[in-house]
Amino acid sequence: MLVNMKEMIEQAKKEKFAIPAFDICNYEMMRAVLEVCEEEKSPALLMVLEGDLRGKGMQLIPAMVNSASNFFSVPVCLHLDHAGNFDLIKQAIDSGFSSVMYDGSTLPFDKNLANTLEIVDYAHARSITVEAELGHVGDAMVGNENATTTGDDDPEDTLTDPTEAKIFVEKTKVDALAVAIGTSHGVYKKTPTLRIDRTKQLADCTNTPLVLHGGSGTPYDQLKEAIANGVCKINIFSDVVTALNGGLKGKLNTITNPATWPMFVFEDARSLMKEAVRAKIRAFGSNNRI
Ligand SMILES: [Zn+2]
Repeated sequence: MLVNMKEMIEQAKKEKFAIPAFDICNYEMMRAVLEVCEEEKSPALLMVLEGDLRGKGMQLIPAMVNSASNFFSVPVCLHLDHAGNFDLIKQAIDSGFSSVMYDGSTLPFDKNLANTLEIVDYAHARSITVEAELGHVGDAMVGNENATTTGDDDPEDTLTDPTEAKIFVEKTKVDALAVAIGTSHGVYKKTPTLRIDRTKQLADCTNTPLVLHGGSGTPYDQLKEAIANGVCKINIFSDVVTALNGGLKGKLNTITNPATWPMFVFEDARSLMKEAVRAKIRAFGSNNRI
């Protein structure tokens, strides 16, 4: 059975580790994440982006993760990643998601706050946890297959403001807050520099678990510092997709029979994805927590 994000993220906050949250798009990705979480005794936080929920995806993916969760002993949360509107969030909750993210980060502060408040009321009445975003994490952007980010933009203007964050979490009572502290979505061309000072300020004035988006490709020493200063959930997409694509490409280049069984085609992709997932779990310290 799926659980919401509350207990696992509060545990992460208390014990000062971060849960890597993985965007999954299909069965192979789901299986790699769940198996490694079980092996490493880490809470499992799976996320899905809107693009994979089109058509029957909205029913099939939650049904798949929901039933899969029964075969694992670690807690499994299914979180809707980056939803920009209430309709999508309602559909996801009806389909079995146990947690949602409302992303109003490009809206003016008051509008973001009002929308988030409405969604928290709806979700909490159904025991669904809510993550919101304040400040704006630069995009490569999610859903664009050619996505890359230059890393050249000055993120200073979009960093989360601590005074706004305090008001925002007190009013909305969100369960987690995604903050902009210097990362970007997508694949970095230049190594990012996280604003640890800002992270600490945000943690001090909100008392709400903080979430870091754009975790892929960010150096571990910086992420560890962010975790020590209040980051409790780190979103990972690109690193697992890179493992999947790299594994497939390498394997397909060696295959001559066009009718090769997918079980063999996915072999390397599967092990590379598991390796990537394990590396995040260990680096963020979410292993041996169950
Ligand atoms: Zn994100």
